[in-house]
Amino acid sequence: MKDVIIIGSGPAGVSAALYTVRAGFETLIISKDFGSLEKAERIENYYGLSQPLSGVELAKAGVKQAQSLGVELVNEEVVGIGWEDGFTVSTTQNVYTSGSVIIATGSSRTVPKIEGLQSFEGRGISYCAVCDAFFYRNKNVAVLGSGDYALHEAAELKGIVGSVTLLTNGAEPYTKFPDEVSINTKKIVKFGGDDKLSSVVFADGSELSVDGIFIAYGVAGSADLAKKIGAITENNKVIVDNNMATNIPGLFAAGDCTGGMLQVAKAVYEGAMAGAQSIKYIRELKKK
Ligand SMILES: Cc1cc2nc3c(=O)[nH]c(=O)nc-3n(C[C@H](O)[C@H](O)[C@H](O)COP(=O)(O)OP(=O)(O)OC[C@H]3O[C@@H](n4cnc5c(N)ncnc54)[C@H](O)[C@@H]3O)c2cc1C
Repeated sequence: MKDVIIIGSGPAGVSAALYTVRAGFETLIISKDFGSLEKAERIENYYGLSQPLSGVELAKAGVKQAQSLGVELVNEEVVGIGWEDGFTVSTTQNVYTSGSVIIATGSSRTVPKIEGLQSFEGRGISYCAVCDAFFYRNKNVAVLGSGDYALHEAAELKGIVGSVTLLTNGAEPYTKFPDEVSINTKKIVKFGGDDKLSSVVFADGSELSVDGIFIAYGVAGSADLAKKIGAITENNKVIVDNNMATNIPGLFAAGDCTGGMLQVAKAVYEGAMAGAQSIKYIRELKKK
């Protein structure tokens, strides 16, 4: 078991790791890429940069610094956070355990623009299979997505719901889905229903009756991951206090995923604070 798992290797995640590793705690960063910095051509408003750096250069320097201090880093996609006598962090390949977790996954979340998607949220549209599968016992549900995150959500639903259909919205599935999951690759134009979602309307005019749809498009975002363990989110942001603590003891969040100013300086501050608070939490845990 690791002391601290940090999800995300952007400025917030790396900054948190610098504190936890230097306090002597075994620290693992799990990340799938360099996050927002991959898109930033030129950073010149961050402290200490005598020359502008590209986002990728800055991100690589941060990761190198963390690794040189002893932080372990794996390149994997996280699909879930749970609790089993400690935190469990599931990726598409492994399950890791730790005493504390810091979510530093940035702000991006892929939600397709489909009519009715937002208006049926909470009334048939869900973003968390582990949280809501129970409400759809023996019912016919669909998962919207085509990759590993969608596969993970479908696996959570199997055995609880009546049937699972994968809706790829025109994309080809890029992972192997179990035979029990029927695959529908038609382009979607609308989610329909009255008080509650009841159908999916496709571009060719055909319809599918459904009781619920679980959105698992692209990669799990910070709010998706937070919700899976019961952390409070609002407008796709993870809710934290001044110590970057969520409502779940031992679970912290930092950087763009908490909202506010989406800048490197703010992510670095929040990462440092989350790291420091995670250290306090683990020290208390080890005393018990
Ligand atoms: C085009 C552009 C230009 C910008 N220019 C500037 C600028 O000039 N100055 C400035 O201060 N800021 C700038 N920013 C903003 C800055 O990049 C962000 O504020 C900062 O990177 C946020 O850091 P973060 O650590 O919170 O998130 P990110 O840097 O986005 O890092 C998120 C991390 O989480 C990982 N992750 C996400 N989901 C998963 C998952 N499911 N599994 C595993 N890993 C996951 C990603 O791989 C990544 O490592 C710019 C952003 C953009 C897009």
